Formats: sequence, structure tokens, C-alpha cells
Amino acid sequence: MDINRIKAIAREHESFYVYDENRIENNISALKRCFAGADILYSIKCNPNKGVLKAAFSRGLGADAASAGEVEAALDAGLEPENIFYSSPGKTDEDILSVLRRCTIIADSLSEVRRIDELLTERNERADIGIRINPNFSFDSSAPAPSKFGADENAVFDFMRHNACNHARIKGIHVHLKSQETNAEALAGYHKNVLNLAERFADEFGEPDFVNMGSGIGASLGGSALDMDLLGAAAKESFSRFRQKHPSTRLMVESGRYIVCSAGTYVAHVADKKVSLGKTYVILTGTLNAFLRPALARLIMKYSISANPAGSEPLFSGADAFEFIAPYDDRPIETVTLAGNVCTACDIVAEDIELPRLERGDIVLISNAGSYAAVLSPNQFSFQRKAEELFLSKSGNIE
Ligand SMILES: *Cc1c(COP(=O)(O)O)cnc(C)c1O
Repeated sequence: MDINRIKAIAREHESFYVYDENRIENNISALKRCFAGADILYSIKCNPNKGVLKAAFSRGLGADAASAGEVEAALDAGLEPENIFYSSPGKTDEDILSVLRRCTIIADSLSEVRRIDELLTERNERADIGIRINPNFSFDSSAPAPSKFGADENAVFDFMRHNACNHARIKGIHVHLKSQETNAEALAGYHKNVLNLAERFADEFGEPDFVNMGSGIGASLGGSALDMDLLGAAAKESFSRFRQKHPSTRLMVESGRYIVCSAGTYVAHVADKKVSLGKTYVILTGTLNAFLRPALARLIMKYSISANPAGSEPLFSGADAFEFIAPYDDRPIETVTLAGNVCTACDIVAEDIELPRLERGDIVLISNAGSYAAVLSPNQFSFQRKAEELFLSKSGNIE
């Protein structure tokens, strides 16, 4: 994003996220090239900003909704029910009833299938639904693991052989096992496994309406980027093999972070600067409170015994998921600790890093602030001012 534009915006806003439509467009184009012919669903939970939803849906993406509220948001943004898929554990009856005929519900357990069937039977209605499956394979070819998500593959097949639901018909499958994978071969292998599962499903129960392969698609963080050419070549082969046999099945891929992570920048102002016993502190507006994850990442790294602890998505992606930028290249370099203005010692985002010299009134940018950022931040701690969310449209307007 143009740094002068950000400096201009910062004259009028204190702490803010800015989402860049051009970048979102590029990321969507890359996904479409990679998964040509498949439907791409935008995972609303990573960033439900209205501008972002419009940017995704106006480019032909459907919605992966993780709550009844997200189904509502997708409908409000103008999406048709046939392109909204609602998958989450623990749906209440109220959730289910509020979305009937407004999306495809993906049941997260067999008891949920029965409950949906009962609710439909009471209303004398029918619906085609999906089932989320915990498959007999893992993402990394280790043994399959118990999961709070989905119903075990064998149990689903058993259920479908022996329990006919009259009103809820299982017509599609959904699998999602992992987030933030940047190894293209691992993702390609996973897609193959899901398509083999879909093949077994088709053999026994007929051609599914849809096969939703979930996400896993990793954003570029700290220098590791997914090889989209490699992934695209593998997907072309495995998807088209499946499509030849099952031309009317919709193949779907979900993505949140890949689309919007790199398109978001967080901007804070320097509110104060001080030296304590030789250490220089730069105090920023709204860090832990308005963008939680950088402070959380530092905290996890501080207490981790490993220099490279495994990610725990979406709260923690690794030590170097965010870059701190002081956009003043002509100034001398200084070693500083970036802290926030909330009254807790945990509100520190970077310790002893080198940046161009900062003064009160300057700005600091944090990269990769487009996904799991504003939505995962307290934003109401200690009556601090809430960070704003700004959408920079392709035409250059702030919305
Ligand atoms: C959160 C989630 C996604 C989105 O994951 P990203 O890593 O942001 O692409 C996709 N599918 C399901 C089922 C999810 O829970």
C-alpha cells in the first residue's frame, strides 16, 4: 500500500486498520488461477468488514459462514443462498431455524443431522444438507486424530447405510483439518485424499452435490510463501480427474487468510517516548487492546521453550508473523521497545528492535493485519478508544 496515502489517512485517524482492495483482488485472482473451475468460498470469520465482503462476493466468491450471524452478513452483502455454506460445531435449534432455506447447512455431527431432520419434520419441510467429516486420514499422514469437528468417516458411512432421514438429506461433504499450511505438496496430498473420500461417498450413495475441501491455504508470513504454481498444477490434475467422473458435483475450496491477511495494515501513533534505565520505550496507541495478536505472539515466544513453537491458529502463527515498520527511511536507526498504552505490562509488541528514530506523533505500521486481527482483539479493555477499520477501495476512496 502506498505509504504516503497511509500517512495522509493517519492525519485524520488515531489507530486504524486499512484493508486494500487492490491487494484483495490480486489474492483472489491467484486463488482462482490455482483452483480454476472450483468454487471459492470466503471464510467470513477472519474478517467480516463490509468492504471486504463486498470485494470478495463481487468477484464471484461464495461464503463459508461459521455462525448464523455470518449467514446473515453474507445475505446482507447480497449473496444468494445457494452460495452460502454454514459449517460450525454446536449449532443451537435457534441457529438452525434462523437459517433454513437461506443457506446450505453443514451438520457437524450425526446428532446434529438428526436434530435438523426433526426440526424439518416438525415443519414438514425438506432440505439438502452437508456433513462435515473427520476423515480416516490426517493432514500430514500421521494417524487420524479425534476431533471436536465433524463426524468420524466410518460413523458417517454407517449412518448413511442404516438411518434414512426423511427430511434432511445429506448431499454434500465438508472436510477441513488444518490452517496456515505453506507446503504446496502437503496441501495437494490433502486435496487428493479428500477427493478419494468423495469418490467412496459417490460409490455408495451417489454423486454428491458438493465436495468442500476446506482451507489450509497459508498466507505468506515471515518469509515462507506457498508455491501457488505447484499447488495449481497438482489441483488441476486431481480436480479434473474427479470432475471427469462427476461433472455435476461442485468442488469447493475455502479461504480466509490467504485473501485478506496481507491486504490489511494496522497503523498506530506514537503517543510517548521514554528512556528507563537505558532502555528506550516507544508507547503506541492501541496495540494489545486493538490488535491483540502481536502482543500475544511476543508473550508466547517469551515463555516458549522452543525457538520455533508450533502455530496455534488463529491466535498464534509464529514468532515473525508481523513486521513493524516505521516509515521514516531518512532517519538514523535506534534500538527501541514498542509498547502499548494499555495499563498492563503484557502490552508490549516488540522488544529491542531496530527502527528509524521515532518521535511523538509519528506512526508505526504492522503488516499482515487483514485476517484474525480486529475480530480477535478486545477493543473494549479499559475504555480505550476502539481502532477504526477503513476499507481502501480500488478507486482510491476510503469507505
Ligand atoms: C476458519 C476456517 C476456514 C478459514 O481458514 P483460513 O486459514 O483463514 O483460510 C475455512 N474453513 C473452516 C471450516 C474454518 O473453520
